[in-house]
This record gives sequence, C-alpha cells and structure tokens, in this order.
Amino acid sequence: MKEDYHIHCNYNDHSSSDLSVDNIIKKAENLDLQTIAITEHVRNNSEWTEKYLQEIKTLAHTTSINILNGFEAKILPDGEIDCPRIYLNKEFFIIASFHTKYHAKENWLNDLLKAIRNENVNVIGHLAPEPEFSLNFEEIKKLGEEISSNNKIIELNAKYMRPPLELLEIFKDLDVKFHLGSDAHKINDIGNYDRIMHLINFIEQTGE
Ligand SMILES: [Zn+2]
Ligand SMILES: [Zn+2]
Repeated sequence: MKEDYHIHCNYNDHSSSDLSVDNIIKKAENLDLQTIAITEHVRNNSEWTEKYLQEIKTLAHTTSINILNGFEAKILPDGEIDCPRIYLNKEFFIIASFHTKYHAKENWLNDLLKAIRNENVNVIGHLAPEPEFSLNFEEIKKLGEEISSNNKIIELNAKYMRPPLELLEIFKDLDVKFHLGSDAHKINDIGNYDRIMHLINFIEQTGE
C-alpha cells in the first residue's frame, strides 16, 4: 500500500487546480508512500509536456520518494497510443488506457492486444470489458498470457474499481504482475484504496 502508480496533476483542466506536482509530493510524503508515478493524460499534440517533465525532475530532487514520470495515453482505434513519439521509450512510464467505447468486442480485443504488445507501454490502465460485452474464459486467458509474456503490469484502479474479479482470478493464475493506482484527480485521492480493498484482498489471499 506504499505506492501509487497513477496520479494526475493540474496540467490539463480536468483535475483540481491544487493538484500540483509539489502538492502531490507533499501528500505522498504525508502518507509515507515509497513510490509514485505522475501520469498526466497526454495527447499526441499536447504542448505542456516538456514543462511538466522538467517540473517533476526538479521537484524529485527534493524528496526521498521514488518518482516515476510519465503519462496516461489513450489507446487509439488502430491500437496505437495517443502520445508524442519522443516519449515512447524506456525512459518514461506509460499507462495505456481505453477512454472511448468501441461497442465491438473484436476490435476492442485487437487494439488491446496491440497495446499489450507495444514495447513502450508499461501498464494497461483500468482494464475492464465494456458493459455491452463480456469476455469468456478463453479470451481472458489469452489476454493474461499476452500480458505476462509481454511483461505488462495490470493496475488495480481505485477510481474505476477495476479490473473485475473474473479477470483478476485468471490473471493471477497466469502470474500477471499487479500494482496499485488511485487515478487521483484531487489531492485526497492519492494513495486512497478504500474502494478496492476487495480487489487488493483477493490478490493478496491468492498470492503465493
Ligand atoms: Zn484513464
Ligand atoms: Zn487516469
């Protein structure tokens, strides 16, 4: 519980204005977190990215917390990632997430597999099938095998309370790696996993 791998900040206008990098670090220090990832939503044409990365880099020197810098990027309808190419390398921590509905399972699965196989993606964010469709055992198993073999991490996301247990059950058996992400859009969300204790307990109970 000493980690939070999914924190937004005030570089876009969808988070509270006091969610500055500085305040994120102060809150993480108060919570005694050891590792955090600051992962603001990015788009291919975002213009604030260099200022953002520089601010994190400067402030990271002022704390003993391990800070990863990166972005949450949308999975596009061709399975590519909506992120400037210059950040698609090992230096940056990239969460790939679905942010638009497909209403079509086959396309959704194909694009998800592309994102899982993308060597520059670290994490698949808030993963869950859309309400319109569900995944059968074979489909979940195939995803879990690809996630494991491509060394991707599945986050337990507190904002969306995902992934659903039926995915976690199969992923866990396939030795998928998990970590915690609050998906914080305001200060008090950081490191708060009250909403997903059932998911965390499940992973811990079935752990080796
Ligand atoms: Zn997201
Ligand atoms: Zn997010």
